[in-house]
Amino acid sequence: AAATAIIGAGIGGIATAVRLAVAGHRVVVFEAQESFGGKMHQLELPGGYRFDGGPSLFTLPHLVDDLFRLAGRDPRDYFRYQRLDPITEYFFADGTRLTAWADEEKFAREIEAKLGTPAADVLAFLARSGRAYEATAGTFLQKSLHKAGTYLSPEVLKALAALPQLGLTSTMHQRHQAAFSDPRLVQLFDRFATYNGSDPYQAPATLSMIPHLEHGIGAFYPEGGIYAIAQSLVRLAQELGVEFRYCEPVREILVSAGSRVTGLRTDQGSYQFDQVVSNMDVVPTYRHLLAAQPAPERTLAQPRSSSALIFYWGIGRRFPELGVHNIFFSEDYKREFEAIFREQTISADPTVYVNITSGHTPTDAPAGHENWFVMINVPHDQGQDWPALVVQTRAAVLRRLSQALGTDLAPLIRAEHVWDPPGIAARTSSFGGALYGSSSNNTLAAFLRHPNFSGRLKGLYFCGGSVHPGGGIPLCLLSAQIVSDLLKD
Ligand code: FAD
Repeated sequence: AAATAIIGAGIGGIATAVRLAVAGHRVVVFEAQESFGGKMHQLELPGGYRFDGGPSLFTLPHLVDDLFRLAGRDPRDYFRYQRLDPITEYFFADGTRLTAWADEEKFAREIEAKLGTPAADVLAFLARSGRAYEATAGTFLQKSLHKAGTYLSPEVLKALAALPQLGLTSTMHQRHQAAFSDPRLVQLFDRFATYNGSDPYQAPATLSMIPHLEHGIGAFYPEGGIYAIAQSLVRLAQELGVEFRYCEPVREILVSAGSRVTGLRTDQGSYQFDQVVSNMDVVPTYRHLLAAQPAPERTLAQPRSSSALIFYWGIGRRFPELGVHNIFFSEDYKREFEAIFREQTISADPTVYVNITSGHTPTDAPAGHENWFVMINVPHDQGQDWPALVVQTRAAVLRRLSQALGTDLAPLIRAEHVWDPPGIAARTSSFGGALYGSSSNNTLAAFLRHPNFSGRLKGLYFCGGSVHPGGGIPLCLLSAQIVSDLLKD
């Protein structure tokens, strides 16, 4: 059997391990940390609070189910989820509140009632987002864009032909301004640029298809929280014979004189493998593990996506008006993105995202309490004064939340943990702590991500959020599919 090493037990690495084990490879996963998950980890705070550490929104759950089916298992024996309804509670700066219902018609009627925009306009916009997704996403996200053969397939040629109408010359924000006159609705749909760490004022209008994922296809909640996705897939991988080696960071990828990968080296020793798949961020893979090899500098120089500042708070009260996903918008969205992407700092009035899972998973907090994951979009780490930014932003967040909820929040915080961009970089080795690898702030970004294979080194492959097709759980799962398809060729 072919022997394949995977560097990193992030969701992309775990999914690749499952696929290759099913294909008959002997698979060993080397993980630097003491456990699996990477960005998708979990943490516990004193007093009985559990949190999902990173991702909180789950879309396209069939991509997880596919892995169990591929292995001949019933996904429901491992992993269960339900469709979320409502999806998000929105709090605008002017005091308006809006509930995003799962049903598109109900959501559109809510918008008409609360903001005055005709429901028909909202439905037309969502339908267009759905058409754009159908026309392109399936094709671009499920194939390597970096193999000439990809461009010969009729479906790819059709998707390429459709691209210009989908808005390559205008920005996402311009698209939303053209669709809606109410700035609150523009802000609501602009927010979807942050789903891959981008800026709605720069990202191409093509990204206006992202709302379709949540509103057309659905947002889902896994039983036990997001971490259950990683847990159930690791269980499957182990049943398939995959070996996980924790606390064993890879130091070097070994390459023969003929530019063929021959294995890897850790502090425990050197190992021979037929293939190596790197699930760690592509920048440190080249800089540290392949230091003696030429690196694809143009690709590595692509601007990074945004990062995050997260406050994990155990809250000593319940807030029935809040759901799983809650957004407290800032007054000046443009200012906020200028701060992140042009000034590399955090605006004084940031939009605040609060994720609470204890309503669905009561064991995540003691009775009468809640587990709040409070997140702000911030620039990736370039040496900013993070301790000062954390203090300033914590005060701004408390002000905004206390004002919106009509109660002083600070005394309700019973436990706290903070994760900032240097912390994200240290724990996951993602470059600068960027959440989604490179950003999608320009039209060609999709074509500029690192491919899922090395063009120079035979036997070297890449999966995970820093390479094609992109960051976020669904795209990481698709990267695993592309890598295993490439290995079959
Ligand atoms: P990563 O999670 O990046 O893991 C890489 C692994 O490689 C790590 O375990 C690391 O320890 C290991 N590693 C690194 N170097 C080495 C080495 N030398 N040797 C061995 N192992 C090594 N996505 C969504 O879909 N929805 C969301 O709501 C969402 N929100 C997010 C919020 C936050 C705060 C964060 C951080 C991310 C969020 N994301 C979200 C993005 C999503 O979490 C990531 O895209 C995805 O989990 C990345 O998976 P990955 O496969 O790239 O691996």
